Amino acid sequence: MPETILATQQQRIEERLRYYEDLGIRLFYRDREATDRTPAVVQGSPRSALVEASLLPKPKTEVSRKPAPHAEPVIAPRAASLFEVVDKVADDTLLKIRDDIGPDCSRCKLHRGRHKIVFGDGSPSAKLVFVGEGPGADEDAQGLPFVGRAGKLLTQMIEAMGLQRKDVYICNVVKCRPPENRAPEPDEVAACSLYLLRQIDVINPQVIVCLGAVAAKTLLNTTRGISSFRGEWLEWRGRKLMATYHPAYLLRNPPAKADVWKDLQRVMAELGLQLPKKKSS
Ligand code: SF4
Repeated sequence: MPETILATQQQRIEERLRYYEDLGIRLFYRDREATDRTPAVVQGSPRSALVEASLLPKPKTEVSRKPAPHAEPVIAPRAASLFEVVDKVADDTLLKIRDDIGPDCSRCKLHRGRHKIVFGDGSPSAKLVFVGEGPGADEDAQGLPFVGRAGKLLTQMIEAMGLQRKDVYICNVVKCRPPENRAPEPDEVAACSLYLLRQIDVINPQVIVCLGAVAAKTLLNTTRGISSFRGEWLEWRGRKLMATYHPAYLLRNPPAKADVWKDLQRVMAELGLQLPKKKSS
């Protein structure tokens, strides 16, 4: 019953576009290959070109497997991610993004148990952005990211790199605390992650460090385990990205700190940072 399917699709697409308008996102890449593969869906709609170009499902190409026997599989630079079809928002600022979220965002169910939206913190022109998965109890109470035990460890890591927290930018995939500190669910990530995309585009860092699997999987659009690409340089929207373990994981598994420090040293080299000199006593 093609007409029923078209009507359903049209409704879903209209809802999705309204949602993007709420976020302030009105620009989409036009992917001609996708248009060629997909017949027009919403005939006569002024939005049909956008719909065809960007919102219909595309084939998954998340991981390219090289035939060379010893080559590591790599994350494909053109993953079939929503992020690949969303253009930079013109004249965007962190303030605008915060305004677009609003004071009482209820776009996903995480708003129900939230006390404070945790937008992000740090330098708006940082060369280095850390992305975690979501706020915990301390962050929810203070409205700031990474201020609990894991946050203190992150601060130590940043200082070990010769930086201060004010030199970097720290944010999360979701801006509201998941109950019981569980991982954010896919619908919550889908509802909130475009704000993250806009934050990174505005800040335009040289390097993005994903702290933990949720951040890495969200940005890279992959289902692969983080340990298979942790510490590798990857490309994300023209920037260098590295995934490493979340500080909360390090609190439970201190031996993994050595791996994270190796990763951060690679980040330091990329940013031209020297190890800070030890103070003489
Ligand atoms: S997690 Fe994001 S989308 Fe969900 S309610 Fe909070 S700010 Fe809104």
